[in-house]
Amino acid sequence: MAEAHIKGNPEPVEIRKIFCIGRNYAGHAKEMNAPLPEAPVFFLKPTTAIIGEGGIIRIPSISRDLHHEIEMTVLIGRGGNNILKGNALNHVAGYGIGLDMTLRDVQSDAKKKGLPWTLAKGFDTSAPISDFVPAESIQDPHALGVKLDVNGMTRQQSNTDDFIFKIDELIAYISQFFTFERGDIIFTGTPEGVASAAAGDKLEAQLLSPSRTVLASLRVSVQ
Ligand code: MG
Repeated sequence: MAEAHIKGNPEPVEIRKIFCIGRNYAGHAKEMNAPLPEAPVFFLKPTTAIIGEGGIIRIPSISRDLHHEIEMTVLIGRGGNNILKGNALNHVAGYGIGLDMTLRDVQSDAKKKGLPWTLAKGFDTSAPISDFVPAESIQDPHALGVKLDVNGMTRQQSNTDDFIFKIDELIAYISQFFTFERGDIIFTGTPEGVASAAAGDKLEAQLLSPSRTVLASLRVSVQ
């Protein structure tokens, strides 16, 4: 069973569905030569993709090009469907940082052939996540920094105020089609700067407050 942990709360939350938003930063859409979406684009990962602090990302033998995508994560605390935008943030239990690890070569091939991204995005260890900061301790989830260092060098750095679709819009949109359950996680999309991660690399992801203190962090390595 994959579990999410909320800081200061001894009770783990069983993870249910994992939603991942594609193209939620204009800079990333541009680097992928993809048009800006008119509505949120999303896909699912299985819970077996989850790893936590100190975890190891294992590159499947089918791929020669594993990419990192740093993303703020949202943990749903209260389920529901047809959630109104104005009430959406009340369904959030916490915020954290995660990596949407991607087999870029497998994904490019699938895109070309019009096939699903499931293998490229949902393989075992493709969803490293940090612990979650309680939602009530975050004044504005759209004023946070996200940062990824690889082997001590910063590779991706951005701010959640650059989202194309804000968290309340994402929750309202998805909940028209999928009932949210407590324990669902949303990966909110990656900023520009995605690049290859190779065996031996050490990845450190951080969620930062407006004053740049570390709210949540995650260290994983690639094998
Ligand atoms: Mg992504």
